[in-house]
Amino acid sequence: MPWTSNAPRVLLKQLREIMARPSTRQSKGDDVEARLDRIVSLIAANMVAEVCSIYVRKTDGSLELAATIGLRKEAIHSTHLKIGEGLVGLVAHSGEPVNLPDAQSHPAFSYRPETGEESYKSFLGVPIVRAGRTLGVLTVQNATSRSYSDEEVEALQTTAMVMAEVMGTGLIEGLNVPAGENKRGQSVTLQGHILSEGIALGHVVLHEPRVSVPKLFAEDPAQEQKRLDASLQRLRESVDTMLSETDVARSGEPRDVLEAYRMFAHDQGWIKRMHEAISAGLTAEAAVEKVQSNIRARTMRQSDPFWRERLHDFDDLSNRLMRLLTGRGATAAETNLPRDAILVARNMGPADLLDYDRKRVRGLILAEGGISSHVAIVANALGIPTLGHVRNVLEEVEPGDPAVLDSEAGNLHLRPSLELIRNYADKARFRARQQLQYEKLRHTPAVTKDGVRITMNINAGLLVDLPHIAQSGADGIGLFRTELEFMVTSKFPRLKQQTEMYRQIIEGVGDKPVVFRSLDVGGDKILPYLQQMPEENPALGWRAIRIALDRQALFRTQARALLHASAGRELRLMLPFLTEVSEFVKARQLIEKDLAHLRRHSQQGPSKIALGAMVEIPALLWQLDELFCQVDFASVGSNDLLQFIFAADRNNTRVASRFDVLSPTALRALRQIVVAAERHKVPLTLCGEMAGRPLEAMALIGLGYRSISMAPASVGPVKTMILGLSATDIQDFLLDLVDQGCLNIRQRLIEFARANDVPV
Ligand code: PEP
Ligand code: MG
Repeated sequence: MPWTSNAPRVLLKQLREIMARPSTRQSKGDDVEARLDRIVSLIAANMVAEVCSIYVRKTDGSLELAATIGLRKEAIHSTHLKIGEGLVGLVAHSGEPVNLPDAQSHPAFSYRPETGEESYKSFLGVPIVRAGRTLGVLTVQNATSRSYSDEEVEALQTTAMVMAEVMGTGLIEGLNVPAGENKRGQSVTLQGHILSEGIALGHVVLHEPRVSVPKLFAEDPAQEQKRLDASLQRLRESVDTMLSETDVARSGEPRDVLEAYRMFAHDQGWIKRMHEAISAGLTAEAAVEKVQSNIRARTMRQSDPFWRERLHDFDDLSNRLMRLLTGRGATAAETNLPRDAILVARNMGPADLLDYDRKRVRGLILAEGGISSHVAIVANALGIPTLGHVRNVLEEVEPGDPAVLDSEAGNLHLRPSLELIRNYADKARFRARQQLQYEKLRHTPAVTKDGVRITMNINAGLLVDLPHIAQSGADGIGLFRTELEFMVTSKFPRLKQQTEMYRQIIEGVGDKPVVFRSLDVGGDKILPYLQQMPEENPALGWRAIRIALDRQALFRTQARALLHASAGRELRLMLPFLTEVSEFVKARQLIEKDLAHLRRHSQQGPSKIALGAMVEIPALLWQLDELFCQVDFASVGSNDLLQFIFAADRNNTRVASRFDVLSPTALRALRQIVVAAERHKVPLTLCGEMAGRPLEAMALIGLGYRSISMAPASVGPVKTMILGLSATDIQDFLLDLVDQGCLNIRQRLIEFARANDVPV
């Protein structure tokens, strides 16, 4: 048995010496050749092999023989194999060792006469992999027919890992990864889902920085084993803590991912392989990297998405372990961010994003992260252009890459051409100029040309939204989605916490009005700590007011907190998802009970309470008279109302655009509500997304709406439209079209705007 258990350590020590020697400047080329010769000779001697060769992957994807002992020297730099070609190509393609006692009888064997390898029977090849990329192949061959032992395979893999570091970090000039291999210089465009609109130019910052191995070789293996064990222990503890807290706000990780982390953190196979790598002479960090590289190479070839997902989990876990070992900060929020950071993360919790210096974050890219993910809500509130579901982004990016994020078209341009950058810089400047124009309108009231005042409110839901009122010049908050603050905390906020939160909002808006909406959870808005049964149709399920009336304690806690927080002021509260007038009446009775309780305890309550109803379920359209007799105000939730009228899921892009909000059907329903509200003198507003689009907002004014509520960024464009519009003209024009059942109202409205110089 030629290989002794001490051999890997001896080999690594010798390799280290070769690499540590300074290069002689006069004869750089010769020096590289000489070092490579020494490296292959050493490996061959240690493995008791007649041949040892290093193949390096070139920019064109081929594998070039870069160094050898045993094969003919003339073959160096002239023998090339494609990935998948020959045994060397097979190793690179499979990402796994190939161990053959009789190489020439293998179907993949490709005879290269210039190498003279016909005299060698056995073959062992291992991939040289770094950060999941195959950089080359390391082989040994023997003349006799022999099968290499598991220890020998393991030892050659460890040596390959050292070679990977040499190649990846340029420790030996001439053996660097080719420029294209680490993707520098190659432009790529990736697609994703738009989570928050906008354009951003900047440089990539990984939210969870990849930690590179600071030192390859262990001075004291026993000490390294101890360091690994201690860090593993801390890793397990941190996963347990995350699991016990189920703090989505902090970790952003769903429970099943955390469960997988816990399972992997106890995986004996993983731990054993890392310990073995340390025994072979590596530091704890290098051992983690080596084992992870092997796992990555093996998993990347799996077509089953389940295993690819698990690879992400393992990658994350290894990265966490690496950070524990190196003592590096957990996220880039704690590092020196560039002024134009485009953050890239697999996923992140909303609180993670809030940890960043807003002034330095230009954009956010998530490899996962759907439209309704909580971080998307926060990104929107902070006005950070964000793309989600950008597959492969983590494999494609390098930290520091220049990037253009076009979150209007849903594209991320990595390492873009200068021309593209110039193009987008123009676009960004144009947007900034436009924004400046909008800001100038901040103090101009939204009055149409014929003197009709339109109330313009904003939709909000987080404390970070508050500055938007002043920035946009809105009249107040027309919809405060209280559930958003609930979604970014880990536990159900208690009465005191809620009171404090609402107080901050009320104080934050100053003397402007704010309309709170009671909790609208259920459907796609999930509170991690609220147990809910799985439902076939969650959008039609147990949500909002239905939960409030079934779990009255939840509702009453919120109502009480709002009553406390509004002491001495008017409280405006509206109820979502009403189907029946009786639900409104019941909810009002509960609030009245709490008010009485407050008074009994001589606590100060609001000076006045205005209780409103959201009209967002079609059933209410046939109860408008009864409803408007009960309410103090009403707000149309056109997002839900129209999705239910057209039976088209608002979160499903395949069906959401199948109907037009400017169709006679939609406009007649919306008109019907205005007419009923006028009849009952009930103040009415509309707070669905359509209010934020200038053309649609123009139509709403035509239908008779005089109050609308929208995303803060829409206030400028909509106000500009209003200032150029005559309310009487649009009303006359539109109501005729609606009465006639015109089938191309959208087009006719565009023509109207053009003819009347209304900027839409
Ligand atoms: C709506 O349904 O139009 C609405 C404003 O509420 P949400 O989007 O929160 O459901
Ligand atoms: Mg709604």
